[in-house]
Amino acid sequence: MKKHNFNAGPSILPREVIEDTAKAILDFNGSGLSLMEISHRAKDFQPVVDEAEVLFKELLNIPEGYSVLFLGGGASLEFCMVPYNFLEKKAAYLNTGVWAKKAMKEAKGFGEVVEVASSAEATYTYIPKDYTIPVDADYFHITTNNTIYGTELKKDIDSPVPMVADMSSDIFSRPIDVSKYICIYGGAQKNLAPAGVTFVIVKNDAVGKVSRYIPSMLNYQTHIDNGSMFNTPPVVPIYTALLNLRWIKAQGGVKEMERRAIEKADMLYDEIDRNKMFVGTAVKEDRSRMNICFVMTPEYKDLEADFMKFATEKGMVGIKGHRSVGGFRASCYNALPKESVQALIDCMQEFEKLH
Ligand SMILES: *Cc1c(COP(=O)(O)O)cnc(C)c1O
Repeated sequence: MKKHNFNAGPSILPREVIEDTAKAILDFNGSGLSLMEISHRAKDFQPVVDEAEVLFKELLNIPEGYSVLFLGGGASLEFCMVPYNFLEKKAAYLNTGVWAKKAMKEAKGFGEVVEVASSAEATYTYIPKDYTIPVDADYFHITTNNTIYGTELKKDIDSPVPMVADMSSDIFSRPIDVSKYICIYGGAQKNLAPAGVTFVIVKNDAVGKVSRYIPSMLNYQTHIDNGSMFNTPPVVPIYTALLNLRWIKAQGGVKEMERRAIEKADMLYDEIDRNKMFVGTAVKEDRSRMNICFVMTPEYKDLEADFMKFATEKGMVGIKGHRSVGGFRASCYNALPKESVQALIDCMQEFEKLH
């Protein structure tokens, strides 16, 4: 039976990207050696990092003066590297979920942290809109897509101070105005590559302004100076990221990814809103295109386990909601075909007919 992969992360990648990674793991560039058993400084591998950086810049229209880094440690290490590198006195954070909160917690070790607004009181079902960003903050940190709660900032907001964004789960799903940010980071395992590599887009002249000593590995300057090769980078995930970037480009770039994301999200939200058994958890205007969260209406609450079983039998994978939200979460990342969304909708409609 065909599986429809709605996993939240690590998550679906284009089949051809996985197949071509598998080929390179067996025989990289016809060298007779595996991608896993060559030096990251081999003359064959440098072009991989170079092309990945070029495609990042091209696809996201990144202006001059920015570097793209491929590091280890996940988005969680960036929660610490960001304040280490940019927080001199004060930073502002928008608290839109668990990940935002974790980012804030790390920053508190480096200076004053202002939580400009929070939707914690409503289980993060919306993104706060009315707040004031202190003009003397070193940066304003946002989480553009809240993977757990299914809310998303689908446009670049205005801020009086430079922004930093965790874009772990919506990178490459829409065009972004990179010039508004000094740093954009994310774990690759949601929408880009397998787990193991972290992308960081950093504005070169924003680095080096804090007065503290920064350990080499945690200093963005180290990685800018060494082109992500200060130490051994995660070679295989970087290679897969490159293949996925080529795939995105061949499909028509981020504009096309956005068109598809809107199409898929509209299809599924329309069904959630129509079907008497289900209800979305996030407020409509803040609904995420990437992680679509819904529960059963109070009337049908006791059928939740039944629907899970029904959908699983029809090939749906990874639709269980995060434990803090409950219900269901269908993650519809770039690589998820429209057919999978339709298959889930069919499940919901058949289940409705049964009851
Ligand atoms: C998954 C996720 C993280 C954590 O990423 P790691 O790479 O596991 O550290 C952080 N932020 C967001 C928005 C996420 O979705």
